[in-house]
Amino acid sequence: MVNKRSYVIVGAGMAGARAAESLRANGFDDRIFLVGDEGKLPYERPPLSKECLQGSKSLFSTTLREWDSWMELAVHLVLDDPVTGLDTSAGAVRLASGIDIVADKVLIATGGVCRTVDVPGAELAGIHTLRTADDCEVVGDRLRRGRSTVAVVGGGLLAVEAAAAAAALGNEVVWLCRSRHPLTGAVGGHAAAHLRSHYSDADFDLIAGVSVVGFEGVDRVRGVVLDDGRTLPADVVLTAVGQRPALDFLDPTVFDTQHGLAVDARLETDTPGVFAAGDVANFVDPFVGGRVRYGMWLNAQNQGQFVARSMMGDTAAYRQVPWYWSDHLGLNVQMAGHIDETASIVAREHGGDSVSWLYVRDHRVVGAVGINVPRDVRAAMVLMDRGVEVTETELADTGSDLRALAKKVAA
Ligand SMILES: Cc1cc2nc3c(=O)[nH]c(=O)nc-3n(C[C@H](O)[C@H](O)[C@H](O)COP(=O)(O)OP(=O)(O)OC[C@H]3O[C@@H](n4cnc5c(N)ncnc54)[C@H](O)[C@@H]3O)c2cc1C
Repeated sequence: MVNKRSYVIVGAGMAGARAAESLRANGFDDRIFLVGDEGKLPYERPPLSKECLQGSKSLFSTTLREWDSWMELAVHLVLDDPVTGLDTSAGAVRLASGIDIVADKVLIATGGVCRTVDVPGAELAGIHTLRTADDCEVVGDRLRRGRSTVAVVGGGLLAVEAAAAAAALGNEVVWLCRSRHPLTGAVGGHAAAHLRSHYSDADFDLIAGVSVVGFEGVDRVRGVVLDDGRTLPADVVLTAVGQRPALDFLDPTVFDTQHGLAVDARLETDTPGVFAAGDVANFVDPFVGGRVRYGMWLNAQNQGQFVARSMMGDTAAYRQVPWYWSDHLGLNVQMAGHIDETASIVAREHGGDSVSWLYVRDHRVVGAVGINVPRDVRAAMVLMDRGVEVTETELADTGSDLRALAKKVAA
């Protein structure tokens, strides 16, 4: 009898789930263990700060596959059992329940852990982060009661999505950002300024250029203390100040985990047989020209699908134009490639709220941001992927469809 191999996937989120599916789709017949610390079937996170927070979509609907469907794929799902260690010399993955799973190859796809605002009062009840379905349930339940005074802390897209959702639910909301120019890091200066012009009409107040230095309250939070001396009332606080890689279970003498797990172009770490994908993976992105660690849905999905083939011995290099989106206040924001403010920037005004900015270097599109114009960003991704040579005049012509430009030049 031939001994079956065991591939163990640590982290049953987007990257881990897609990797398990992809192993089977690519003909891997041996054992797959998909191990997660949440008591839920693998699910998608983007709706957690959007429809699920507002209550227009159920958490159940975010599930990637039903239990039966995982059984049909013959994937051994181990849920609610955190991995506590990886013994690379013994080739074993240790679970909190005490079980050791012997592994021929391991994929680490444990995502991120929310950073917190570590100031006096941070332990008070009513201060939340938003990463998991459980977080969404707790915060959403509270917000849907309405009439709360809510402070959202953070300068990125997740923060503004949460602020918009909380305000739509009838709460009094203030969005607090340390940067004077919120969202600039996420979408670049032009799109950030354009978006901020919309927020003056929104149902939340934006206070930019302030730091939170403390939280006030007895047991429950009642106020947020700012570095300008003000204390703002708040009975719910949501902090959205980024995430760090969820790698605490790894031995730091074996793995350098500070900036995620460094992997090569096949997404393998320098420990042979140990791979990483999704929010934990630190890889060289050819579209950026350096090492990055993304917190992006498409990256997690595609790396999960890709790494399965690497685990099976494929030698191809990972290559995907980075892409992120956000939906809030009726605006669809999409970002692709490298938002490099030192590049030339071509604006495409389509009228109304539809506008995109293309970042151009050496006659090639290197980045794109679009507001309510997904087709420009999609087409820009093709231009970037194929390295199509373009002129700024061609790009600025809103009468021409960028998709046609991509097709014409590639033809
Ligand atoms: C609220 C929210 C909104 C988002 N919105 C967008 C969006 O609009 N657009 C976009 O592009 N991206 C968005 N993202 C980012 C996107 O969802 C992530 O990039 C993606 O989920 C990452 O997938 P992953 O598999 O790497 O990690 P995850 O999906 O986080 O999965 C990792 C899993 O591993 C588990 N785990 C961690 N440690 C252990 C352990 N020791 N043992 C076992 N299991 C463990 C985690 O609990 C989790 O279940 C959003 C993220 C969040 C949180």
